[in-house]
Amino acid sequence: MEEKLQELKEQVLKDLANITTVAALKDMKIQYLGKKGSLTEIMRGMGKLSPEERPVIGQLVNDIRNQLEVAIETRSKELEKVELAAKLAAETVDITLPGRKPREGHLHPVTLTLREMKKIFMRMGFAVMEGPEIENDYFNFEALNLPKDHPARDMQDTFYITEEFLLRTQTSPVQARTMQENKGNSPIRMICPGTVYRNDYDATHSPMFHQVEGLVIDKNISLADLKGTLEVFCKEMFGNDVKIRLRPSFFPFTEPSAEVDISCVMCGGKGCRVCKNSGWLEILGSGMVHPNVLRMSGFDPEKVSGFAFGMGVERIAMLKYGIDDLRLFFENDLRFIRQFK
Ligand SMILES: [Zn+2]
Repeated sequence: MEEKLQELKEQVLKDLANITTVAALKDMKIQYLGKKGSLTEIMRGMGKLSPEERPVIGQLVNDIRNQLEVAIETRSKELEKVELAAKLAAETVDITLPGRKPREGHLHPVTLTLREMKKIFMRMGFAVMEGPEIENDYFNFEALNLPKDHPARDMQDTFYITEEFLLRTQTSPVQARTMQENKGNSPIRMICPGTVYRNDYDATHSPMFHQVEGLVIDKNISLADLKGTLEVFCKEMFGNDVKIRLRPSFFPFTEPSAEVDISCVMCGGKGCRVCKNSGWLEILGSGMVHPNVLRMSGFDPEKVSGFAFGMGVERIAMLKYGIDDLRLFFENDLRFIRQFK
């Protein structure tokens, strides 16, 4: 029996050296020292011992049990340390790694330009008005002195939705609506920025683009007011060195009408590829509001007068940023768009 106990002790100590996890160690402890374990098994044979032998063996069993428990406990502590170290190593967070920045968006160059244009006119006391993009024939054409058979209607290829409704080809209907809502009361000083639609697509035309139109109606408004207002706008937009000039033109809703040019922002007026060596760039159309348009909207052309102007936002943006193809604005190539951050 003594031999068996010594064998058991050696076996346990040998196993202990080979065990590698706390969980396996617990199983091993039960296997050898548990209620149904090997030691209990050996102790069953004690009944066969003589009364002299019993206390000696009993003492030995206790000694061995204590020794083994101490050995298991010591090994258990070692294994716990190893396991903790492994766990810490596996769960290490490298705090020196740079964080991931969320990608920040920014405004589109057309939006940037539009906002700047609005700001300039708002500083001059203009109100910002808006209107529907699906417009009826009356406001888009007729109220602007363009009756149904007027040849100027052929100048624009229009997206019709029905015979009566269309995608507005200009923001001018907002002017017509504002004039009618004012029921002949002046002064009016407004701009109408917005999206407009025409059936065009090339390097300088897009089927969807943006306009800013403006309208002033008051007593004693003259061409000098028109020129002064637009000169302030151009200088604020393109810098103080910019000159403007007015060239006679024709629009159905203004009389007289004028195209406005600015001195070329690329060459300063010396002549270059962009201005086709003329030194000038056409940027907007304008004129004194036609008496018919005033009358149609309830104003008395004998008492008040006004001026109107309109320009393409993309055109202004192209000149401001030196972009030569309008389609770049809408192709959404991020390599292009990100340059305006
Ligand atoms: Zn030039």
